[in-house]
Amino acid sequence: MSLYENIEKIRERINKAAIKANRDPVGIKLLTVTKTQSIETIEEALSNNIEFIGENKVQEAEDKIPYLENKFKEFHFIGHLQSNKIKKLMKLKPDLIHSIDKYSTANKLNNYLKQNILKQDILIEVNTSDEESKFGVTPDETIPLIRSISRLENIRIKGLMTISMFTSDEKIIRDSFIKLRKLFNDINAAEIPNVEMKYLSMGMTNDFEIAIEEGANIIRIGTAIFGARNY
Ligand SMILES: *Cc1c(COP(=O)(O)O)cnc(C)c1O
Repeated sequence: MSLYENIEKIRERINKAAIKANRDPVGIKLLTVTKTQSIETIEEALSNNIEFIGENKVQEAEDKIPYLENKFKEFHFIGHLQSNKIKKLMKLKPDLIHSIDKYSTANKLNNYLKQNILKQDILIEVNTSDEESKFGVTPDETIPLIRSISRLENIRIKGLMTISMFTSDEKIIRDSFIKLRKLFNDINAAEIPNVEMKYLSMGMTNDFEIAIEEGANIIRIGTAIFGARNY
């Protein structure tokens, strides 16, 4: 199948999942994950109605994002952020960083932002599947972390992100999305100053339909659009 057909197919599946969940598909942002894809391939996707792109490595993003400027609407950073890469990432002006899970990284980011008179929208990455190998704050520690980061004036917390376990067990996946959705609602109810629960980023190629059913409004898709990645 062509890139165009893959994109059409994904949009159809998003619509179907949204309708099944009684939701308006317009409210669901398709973030196209372009990691390992060439500039040419990304350009082709962008000329086929793709507007939001995501990369997970600062170095790789540096090699591509500047050459794509004015061709995309938003660039999101979705990978683990090492504090020594903050400056390089910020030069690429990410519209949203999905993956803050530590106060120390947020604090360093805030210092950079203050010095440069900038603000930055971020999501907090939560490890909802108890996998030790994974990044993300534990669900129990999420609200305390958000309270601390909320005091950093140049950072704006806009929601939560999770990566579910890679498994064919639908119940495990759904439980992890339900857990994130519940945290999202709890944080919203806590009305923490400088914190807005706007985005729930969850769902990838293998599980985005479940994520939509459980309330995701950003889904992050790579493989279903570009095919299996060639590292
Ligand atoms: C690679 C990646 C994705 C996309 O995964 P696919 O299974 O290819 O759709 C989504 N989110 C993050 C954080 C990723 O690193």
